Amino acid sequence: AKQAGRGTARRFEPFMDQELRMRRSLEHDMRQAIAKDQLVLHYQPLVQLHSGEVVGVEALVRWNHPERGLVPPNHFIPLAEDTGLILSIGEWVLRTACQQAAQWPGLVVAVNLSPVQFKSRDLVETVSQILRETGLPPGRLELEITESVLLHDSAAALAVLERLKAAGVRIAMDDFGTGYSSLGYLNSFPFDKIKIDQSFIRDLDAEKSNAIVRSVVSLGQSLKMITTAEGVETVGQAEFLRQVGCEQVQGYLYSRPLPAEQLAPLLLGWVQG
Ligand code: C2E
Ligand code: CA
Ligand code: CA
Ligand code: CA
Repeated sequence: AKQAGRGTARRFEPFMDQELRMRRSLEHDMRQAIAKDQLVLHYQPLVQLHSGEVVGVEALVRWNHPERGLVPPNHFIPLAEDTGLILSIGEWVLRTACQQAAQWPGLVVAVNLSPVQFKSRDLVETVSQILRETGLPPGRLELEITESVLLHDSAAALAVLERLKAAGVRIAMDDFGTGYSSLGYLNSFPFDKIKIDQSFIRDLDAEKSNAIVRSVVSLGQSLKMITTAEGVETVGQAEFLRQVGCEQVQGYLYSRPLPAEQLAPLLLGWVQG
């Protein structure tokens, strides 16, 4: 820093230092988050559009940091992925979500898998172990993966997906439409569900987005996959989705993600049968 003669270097260094310090302190705190019981799961209902029935929930992690408050996943998952901490965080999420879902008869629980978890050698064994441990029937666990895991080594990815299918769990393609060459992938991998990314739902007033959503739903129908629309916020969006035959919806229109104890009383009213 003493040598820095050029203006740009001088100007940016303090900022970089600060950013690095911030990262380090976050990383340090994150190493203790599980042991200190600071991670929490919120659950957002997955609603069957034609009946209004809640058929499942998506587990979404938050970090209850002693000074920073409730930290959203986008603020710490990337760092957890860089440092490998995502493996223990992800395992905690899986175990906690399965334990919780075992208390909610009939409901499916959807869990997000990081590409880092997906590539780890123990994934299938970890999942099977947690299912045995919690007693959750495998068909009630849905793992959400993004297209990025299929990109680099699709043969290896297919092998992992087939082992997970053989273990009886369900597989959903998350954030559909935001990655690369999605259409080919749908055909080649054993997905049970396509989750249409919320960016398309947000733009549903635009002709283009309407056409995309309509075609993804009909593609899902021909491939015998369930389609779920994410980020549904308005009655108008729900109405359009009903018209095009989308089966499931998820979004603030129905419920924000909530802690289990707040969601449980609502579930009683929503789940039919
Ligand atoms: P995602 O899997 O696409 O999850 C949906 C996100 O949309 C959630 O944000 C949810 O709260 C938000 N959302 C739901 N309904 C609406 C709506 O009507 N309008 C709007 N604007 N947003 C809505 P959240 O909980 O902040 O999670 C963000 C992302 O973090 C997730 O995106 C997922 O990629 C990641 N994430 C969350 N939990 C986990 C986890 O346990 N493991 C991993 N690897 N990633 C996770
Ligand atoms: Ca998801
Ligand atoms: Ca998503
Ligand atoms: Ca997303």
